[in-house]
Amino acid sequence: MHFIDVILPLPLPKLFTYSITEAEAGFLTPGMRVSVPFGKAKFYTALVFNIHTTEPHAYEAKDIHQILDNEAIVTQKQLEHWQWISEYYMCTLGDVMRAALPNAFLLESETIITKNTETQVNETELQDEEFLIFEALNHQTSLKIQDIVSILDKKNVLPVIKSMLDKRIVLVEEEIYEKYKPKLVRYVKLQTKFSSEKHLQDLLEDLSRAPKQREVVLTLFTLSAQTKKPIKVSELTDKSNASSAIVKSLIDKDILEEYYIQTDRIQYSGEKNNPLKTLNEPQKIAFQEIKASFEKYHITLLHGVTSSGKTEIYVKLIEEVLQQGKQVLYLLPEIALTTQLVNRLQDYFGEKVAVFHSKYSSQERVEVWNHLIHHSSKAQIILGARSSVLLPFHDLGLVIVDEEHESSYKQFDPAPRYHARDTAIVLAHLFQCKTLLGSATPSIESYYNTKLQKYGLVELSTRYNNVLMPDIELVDIKDKHKRKRMTGHFSDRLIEEMTETLKEGHQIILFQNRRGFSPIVECQTCGVSPQCPNCDVSLTYHQYKDQLRCHYCGYHSVMIKACEACGSVDLDTKGFGTQQVEEEVNKLFPNYKVARMDLDTTRGKYGYEKIITAFEQQEVDILVGTQMLTKGLDFRHVKLVGIMNADNMLNFPDFRAHERSFQLMLQVSGRAGRTEKRGKVLIQTYNPYHKILQQVTTNSYMEMYEEQMDERRNFKYPPIYRLIKITFKHRNYNKVNVAADWYAKSLRMVFKTDILGPEFPPVSRIRNQFIKHIIVKIPPKQSVSKTKEAIIKINNSFFAVKDFRAVRVILNVDNY
Ligand code: ADP
Ligand code: ZN
Ligand code: ZN
Repeated sequence: MHFIDVILPLPLPKLFTYSITEAEAGFLTPGMRVSVPFGKAKFYTALVFNIHTTEPHAYEAKDIHQILDNEAIVTQKQLEHWQWISEYYMCTLGDVMRAALPNAFLLESETIITKNTETQVNETELQDEEFLIFEALNHQTSLKIQDIVSILDKKNVLPVIKSMLDKRIVLVEEEIYEKYKPKLVRYVKLQTKFSSEKHLQDLLEDLSRAPKQREVVLTLFTLSAQTKKPIKVSELTDKSNASSAIVKSLIDKDILEEYYIQTDRIQYSGEKNNPLKTLNEPQKIAFQEIKASFEKYHITLLHGVTSSGKTEIYVKLIEEVLQQGKQVLYLLPEIALTTQLVNRLQDYFGEKVAVFHSKYSSQERVEVWNHLIHHSSKAQIILGARSSVLLPFHDLGLVIVDEEHESSYKQFDPAPRYHARDTAIVLAHLFQCKTLLGSATPSIESYYNTKLQKYGLVELSTRYNNVLMPDIELVDIKDKHKRKRMTGHFSDRLIEEMTETLKEGHQIILFQNRRGFSPIVECQTCGVSPQCPNCDVSLTYHQYKDQLRCHYCGYHSVMIKACEACGSVDLDTKGFGTQQVEEEVNKLFPNYKVARMDLDTTRGKYGYEKIITAFEQQEVDILVGTQMLTKGLDFRHVKLVGIMNADNMLNFPDFRAHERSFQLMLQVSGRAGRTEKRGKVLIQTYNPYHKILQQVTTNSYMEMYEEQMDERRNFKYPPIYRLIKITFKHRNYNKVNVAADWYAKSLRMVFKTDILGPEFPPVSRIRNQFIKHIIVKIPPKQSVSKTKEAIIKINNSFFAVKDFRAVRVILNVDNY
C-alpha cells in the first residue's frame, strides 16, 4: 500500500492522505501536483508533500484522480521554507501554498474560465474537448470548472483546461481583473520628413524667430546623431534647457513626433550591458566592510543615508554572486519601486533580471516560476515585492532587502501574515547564504539586532556626489495662524519657498498623511457628523465627486445638503486631505502643473506608473501625495519637500507611531536635492518642540533609537517583547464580547501577566463586523514556540464551544 500526504489549497490544519498505486508511487515526487477529490463532489489541485506506506487512522484514504505534472513544480527547499512560515506565523500550509503558487497552478471547482478575446482561434485545430469548451464560451461569457465537468461529462477536466490556458485560448478569472500594465516612457523624434539635410536646414531657418524651439530641434538632432538610441522627452528638455511646453508646441506643429515604449517587461530587448559604475571612496569602504561583515555574520544591516548610493553597492555585490553562478533575491517593499529599479538593473545585467509581483498576470508569474524551476539564466536575479520570497530558488547566493524598515513587508490579510524581510532571512539560512538589509532609517528591530551582535552593521553617512543632506526647517503653524500668515493650509514660509523653487525650474513634493484625517463633515448646529452605516467611522468628504465615502468599506452616498440629525444647513468640514492640498495649490500657483498621488488617483489601471513617469519627465511641477511618495523613489529634479502637517502622524495611537513618523519624514525629505543642489524641507507643525521633529531636523537616528528603546523597554514592546495579536470578528456585538472574554481568561490562566485586552480598536466595527483585540506579549525569556503551542491549544478548545464556532479568530504574529 502506498500513500501520499498532500497540501490542499484550503485552510486545513493538517495534511490529507490519499492512496496511490505502486506505479504512481514510483513516479511521484514531493512538489508535484495531483488532482484529488475532497468534500462533496469537488476536485482540487493538491501538492504532494511526501510519499509513504502508513495508512491514515481516522479515515479511509481515497484514490487520487490524476497526476498533473511530469516534474516537481515546488522544490524541497520551498516545502521546508513553507513549513517554517506555517509554524512561525501560525497558519496552515494550504494558506502558504495559496500565497506562493500563481493561480494558474491551482485550478479548482470554483475557478472561473473565460474566453481570451485577444487570441485568434482556428477552430479546426482544436481537439474535440477543447472545441466543446470553446463552443460553450461562445454562448456564455464564463464557465466554472464544475460546468465544464458536466459539459465534457467526465471528472478530470484540468488537463484540457491547462492545455487551453497554455494556448492562451482561455483565461482564469484572476487575469481578467489583474492585467498588469507596464510603465510607458515618452520618447520623441523628428518627423521623418525632416530627415534630409535640406529639409532640416529649411526647418531651422523657419524657426529662426523661435530660438528656443530651434535649440530643441538642434539638440535633438545632435543627440540622435551621438547615441543612435531613442531619446526620452526628459532627456531632451534636460539637454536643451527647454520646458516641456516648448517640446509640446513642436509636437503640435508636427515637427516632432512623440511615441511610447514599454519599459517594465520580463523580456529584456537590449543587448549591450552597461559597465557598472565605479564606486566612490565612501562606497568602496562600505562595500569592503559589508564583505568583512559577511565573514562574521549571516545578516548585515547597511545604514546609509538617503541617496548615498546604496543601490550601486548592491549592484557590485550582485555581480560577484552572479560570477559564482548563483542567484540573487532583491526585495523591495512596493511594486512601484520595481518599475524604477528594473531599468537600472537591466542596464547592468540584461536579461538575467526577472521581475515578480502580484500585479503581474498569472501567466507572467508562471513564466518566471518556470524559469526558476528550469534553472534558466533568465531569472538569475529576482527583483520583487513581498511574495517573491516564496519562489522556487535552487541556488540562492544573496538576499537583499532594500528599505528594510518598511511596514508594507508585513502581510495583513489574508493568511499567511508573514513579514517578507524575516521570511527572506530564513530563506537565506536554508541556502546558507548572506542577507543584506538596507535602509536610511533602519527599523528599531534590526538596529537592536546589530547591538545584540546578531547582525553586522555598516554605516554610510555621505550622499553620493557629496550633495548636502537637505536643510530641514520647522514652521510653527500655531504661531502663523495667530499672526494671520496662513493661506488655507499654506504658511507664508512654504509659499515663499515654493515660489522660489518654481521660478528656478525645480520640482516640489507636498506630503499630506491622509490616513483617517481627510475632511469630515460636521454640523455647526448640533455637532453631528455623518457616519458609515456599516462601520464605526465618520464618512469622508470627496469634493471631486461631491460624495461622502467610507475608507474602510467603500460605502458612498451623495453629499448631504442638510444635517440628518437636526436639519441645519450650516455644515462645515474638519481636517484636510490631499485633495484639498491639490486644490489650494492650483489656486496659489495657477500657472504650474499639479498632480496628486494617493489611493484615489492610483486605483485606475496604470495610474501609479503614469503619475511617476509624468513627474520623472518633468511634465508635472508639483506632486501632492500620501505615504506612497516616501518609498525610495529617485527623482532627479526635486528641490523642495513640504510636509503639510506633521502632527497627525505623531499622534497616531500605536507604539510605533514615533518611529514611523521619524522614518516617514526623513524618507520623504530624502526625495529632495538628490543631484547637485541642496534640497530644502519645510515641516509645518503645531508642535515644533516635539522630540521626534527635533530629531528629524538634525537627522539624529541614534538619539531617536535610544529614546524609543527606552520606551519599548518601559512599556514592554518589541523588540524587547514579542507580540501576537488575536482578533475576534462577528456581526453580533455580544458574541464578540463573550468570545473575547472567554479567550482572554483562558490565556491569563496560562500566562498570568502580559495579556492586554480584550479591547475594541479605535474603529471597532468594519463592514458590519464588530472587532475586538487581545495582545499577547512574550517576555524575552519566555519560549516563543511554547507560547504559540499554548495559544493553539486554547484556540482548539475555543472552537470546540459550539457557540463560538461562527466567530472569526485571526492570529497575527509580530503584528505591525
Ligand atoms: P540610495 O539607494 O542610497 O538612496 P542611489 O543608489 O539611488 O542611493 O544613488 C543616488 C544617485 O546617485 C543615483 O542616481 C545613482 O545613480 C547615483 N550614484 C550612486 N553611486 C554612484 C556612482 N558610484 N557613480 C555614479 N553615480 C552614482
Ligand atoms: Zn445638526
Ligand atoms: Zn464603512
